[in-house]
Amino acid sequence: MNIIVAKNAGFCFGVKRAIDSAYEAIKNEGPEIYSIGPLIHNELVTDDLRQKGLIVLNDYDEINKLKSKKIIIRTHGIEKNVYELLKKNDNKIIDLTCPFVSKIHDLVRDYSEKGYQLVVIGDKEHPEVKGIVSYAVNDIFVIINDKEARNLNIDKNDKVLVVFQTTTNVENAQKLVDILKDLFYNIYLVNTICNATQNRQEEVKSLSKICDVMLIIGSSTSSNTKKLYEIAMTNCKSTYLLTNSSDTKNIIINHDAKIGVSAGASTPKYLIEEILNNVRNEF
Ligand code: SF4
Repeated sequence: MNIIVAKNAGFCFGVKRAIDSAYEAIKNEGPEIYSIGPLIHNELVTDDLRQKGLIVLNDYDEINKLKSKKIIIRTHGIEKNVYELLKKNDNKIIDLTCPFVSKIHDLVRDYSEKGYQLVVIGDKEHPEVKGIVSYAVNDIFVIINDKEARNLNIDKNDKVLVVFQTTTNVENAQKLVDILKDLFYNIYLVNTICNATQNRQEEVKSLSKICDVMLIIGSSTSSNTKKLYEIAMTNCKSTYLLTNSSDTKNIIINHDAKIGVSAGASTPKYLIEEILNNVRNEF
């Protein structure tokens, strides 16, 4: 079969570091280790971590009750007030916030203190963006579409800093940047979309233009996996999102089709291999 697997499919640097560190922490410092929210957006991995002893906290009340415990902060980072609460309660923090995300926290805090108006291009409901927003000392705006960009309540002469959710869609971000450049005279853009995301999206864009079928592997709860699916769909209508190996039973592929494969940043290698084996055996 003609199968092309994207070079950048699967775990990115930040996720790999977080997972390795979490398993190590459970082994060396367990059994009672907590994480704020699921460590990554992949149920196969988070279920395994849960079975090995990682306890996932889902709301502020649960977090507030913890005193002197070991707590993992995931790659997305957390809101500043939650971080301060953990410290106040004398918890041991294992901070696995991706350095690319921490850099955005620093930018937002520093430029907000300098009096800049702040704009984040991303999804306001995403935990990473909630964390970024919490580092501003003044107002901060989150936009995702043309309408929100044009309706920003910022004076055209104000100094404006624009940053990006690390996994935001590159093409959409470029479109919004063009609008913002027309609206504001003093605009400072820092491209905080991480390389892993950009490379992955570019590869999927190219592959989806030359393949008959695209397989995107990862969880439907993963922001970067969903973006890959959207990009592939734009060029290839036979695009499938596969979350586990049995999903290959629900798809149709002609034996002579050219198949492109990519996977989100939180997709484990073994799942990609299982799905490739199924495709080779079933079609
Ligand atoms: S996608 Fe990029 S920012 Fe997010 S964890 Fe991976 S390397 Fe870090």
